[in-house]
Amino acid sequence: MKYIFVTGGVVSSLGKGLAAAALGTLLERRGLKVLMQKFDPYLNVDPGTMSPFQHGEVYVLDDGAETDLDLGHYERFTSGRLSQLNNLTSGQVYENVIKKERKGDYLGATVQVIPHVTDEIKRRIYDVTAQADADIIITEIGGTTGDIEGLPFLEALRQFKDEVGHENVAFMHATLIPYIKAAEELKTKPTQQSVAKLREIGIAPDVIICRAEHPIDNEIKRKLSMFCNIKPEAVVPFVDIKGTIYEAPLKLHEEKLDTIICERLGLATSEPDLLEWRNIVDRIVNPTHTVKIGVVGKYIDLQDAYKSIYESLTHAGAANDTKVDVVRIDSGDIEAEGAGKYLEGISAILIPGGFGDRGIEGKIDAARYARENNVPYFGICLGMQIATIEFARHACDLELAHSTEFNPSTPHPVICLLEEQKEVTNMGASMRLGTWETSLNKKSHSAELYGTTTINERHRHRYEFNQNYLSQFEEAGLHLVGTSPDGTLGEIVEIPNHPFFIAVQFHPEFQSKPTAAHPLFKGFVAAALENRS
Ligand code: GLN
Repeated sequence: MKYIFVTGGVVSSLGKGLAAAALGTLLERRGLKVLMQKFDPYLNVDPGTMSPFQHGEVYVLDDGAETDLDLGHYERFTSGRLSQLNNLTSGQVYENVIKKERKGDYLGATVQVIPHVTDEIKRRIYDVTAQADADIIITEIGGTTGDIEGLPFLEALRQFKDEVGHENVAFMHATLIPYIKAAEELKTKPTQQSVAKLREIGIAPDVIICRAEHPIDNEIKRKLSMFCNIKPEAVVPFVDIKGTIYEAPLKLHEEKLDTIICERLGLATSEPDLLEWRNIVDRIVNPTHTVKIGVVGKYIDLQDAYKSIYESLTHAGAANDTKVDVVRIDSGDIEAEGAGKYLEGISAILIPGGFGDRGIEGKIDAARYARENNVPYFGICLGMQIATIEFARHACDLELAHSTEFNPSTPHPVICLLEEQKEVTNMGASMRLGTWETSLNKKSHSAELYGTTTINERHRHRYEFNQNYLSQFEEAGLHLVGTSPDGTLGEIVEIPNHPFFIAVQFHPEFQSKPTAAHPLFKGFVAAALENRS
């Protein structure tokens, strides 16, 4: 097994996860089996309890693990399916160490960061190695070199490299090369200092990925090579991409990143086959049509809060030879000023998942606007619950209908908790999570789009569709067309008498890839195109 560890320096939000994922694409297309994972130094056990303001999207895996959004990049850029083993946090590490200490496993020793915490981190790498069907494991370390929280991870990696042999481990360090406008110069000093920090810990990077707004010339490469003690060709420029993030593997290949890594690790492979990837990039960058799709949410200003939704729209756009212009609409604004002002001229409306009651009424107004004006509507998780509440209120005369999440004493709890959920008091990992099967009505629009009547999709929610209202809904034109195989849990509602009205309790966005757009997103963008004004 070969290992690549990806660290970051100078600042966060560098695109380190993207660079790691792009390397995954390149190695996979050289015929290697690649597994990707992330180590996060924060103390939360998982990001499931964190606010989107802190963390962006929580990405959910098949097994229900709530993970960092970089795992979304990994699944979109490589063919690997990940599990909870592939996202390790300091919270998990310390939780395990403390459990062992309480059990007496340390036989009276003083429990310390070195060796007990570092052993626990290494144990995870060995566990993953034992279970992985892979030639190479790429591990990204969250945070920035110099962070206190990151030290145990870096020390563990230093030890690990000695245990498995230097020839089997490569370190890739991603940094920022800032451009000083007044001097019209790119500056290497922050990178030199962050590499010096790594070397203090005993880690010497083999490759430096240099994020920059401007092209990096040979002089900069030479300087970094000298001060950071690496070959000039191992200074890999990663300049801002204008088109799409899916160009990242192509750009890094032009800079020979995959060749450098394969040589360093003694991996004899052919050149990567990037034909399919180039075609996808071309379809994303040079589409024939354009369409405006409104995403109505409450974290609209945050770049990362609906990451997988935006990516899925890009994939579906490419599949329809269309550029999707996402119009981000704050549901609070709709609440204050009405849906018409924000939704007129928009070809389709998507309401994504969410928690908490802020902005809920604005989302209900948006769903009503879509239903009444025949604008294609795609509801995801909370967006499905919103569509249900809206329909109950305005098409079934259940004026006070609501979800018990937002009004526990509503007379018409059209979305509510199941009995067994009522006892749950812990917030962490207590939702219906991960992949569950759904059976589709074979005459439904969804079944037509999927091309099958049995699907598996990922979930992350607490509240459920209340089937006690089903006959009222069906009479008025909203149909439950997808349920859990035993029929107890509502999964998909549709309005057949509408150009496109599909709302799902699960999260299809976690399974869309640039190479395989999700069928519901694909159908949704096609409907938006039809509806272009
Ligand atoms: N808040 C809703 C629930 O818990 C929806 C969750 C979501 O959209 N992910 O059921």
